[in-house]
Amino acid sequence: MPVFFIHSKQIIGGVLQLTGPLVRHVGGALRQQIGDRIFVIDEQKIGYDVQLLEVTPKRIVGKVLQEKRKAPVSPLSITLGQAILKSKKMDWILQKATELGVSRIVPVVTERTVVTPRPERVEIQHHRWEEILKEAAQQAGRWEIPQLDFPTDFSRLIKESPNFDFLLLPWEGEEKKGLREVLQSNLQGPKILVLIGPEGGFSDHEVLLAREHHFIPVSLGWRILRAETACLAMLAMLQYEIGDMGRV
Ligand code: SAH
Repeated sequence: MPVFFIHSKQIIGGVLQLTGPLVRHVGGALRQQIGDRIFVIDEQKIGYDVQLLEVTPKRIVGKVLQEKRKAPVSPLSITLGQAILKSKKMDWILQKATELGVSRIVPVVTERTVVTPRPERVEIQHHRWEEILKEAAQQAGRWEIPQLDFPTDFSRLIKESPNFDFLLLPWEGEEKKGLREVLQSNLQGPKILVLIGPEGGFSDHEVLLAREHHFIPVSLGWRILRAETACLAMLAMLQYEIGDMGRV
């Protein structure tokens, strides 16, 4: 079921009132009508089942039927360090990574990153990316929006390695270790950092640096995948093997 993120101030005396862009979304695109039920979540992660009483182009009013305080729990906390890709691909990755349950996304500037953000664009871009994450989280029925960092240099992100239990570097040059055996034998805790390279891949220097910081280079098979394919495949396999996919 999709969710909608609201502010607790929008519920007064058991009545929810929506105005602004969410009205177009709920009443317009999603075609919700009087009598339909929606699920909203406020900033304190309280969920509410709401029955719609009024749906107009400007305003939606609904009655709170029930309050729920238990957010679904995931066994993993995945941080995706994704080398910044061209605009459309990056947007796609942000959306898919949210659907696949990442907790945090760090856009990474690597040696071979071709699109480096211009300083004056960084704020605007961050805001646009946050909107993508919010929409994807709502659509996926998540109770929270993944955290989004500002673009960070590769060397800076890998220094965060001590904060994680498991550090993975999918690398097409890895000839010994495949993902399956790595996941089955090296997992030490739920906090995972995955780094995916840009179209041109990681440089040898970056792979070396990552190794020094205890990242495990892993192969996703002998075929070379596009960065966005590698990202999606990696997240899906992580969730399937050690996370919450393939369960109910
Ligand atoms: N430039 C490289 C390919 C880079 S693919 C070349 O042409 O040889 C982009 C990213 O996807 C890589 O940095 C890596 O993180 C991931 N990737 C793609 N295929 C992979 C594979 N078979 N195994 C592991 N990682 C892979």
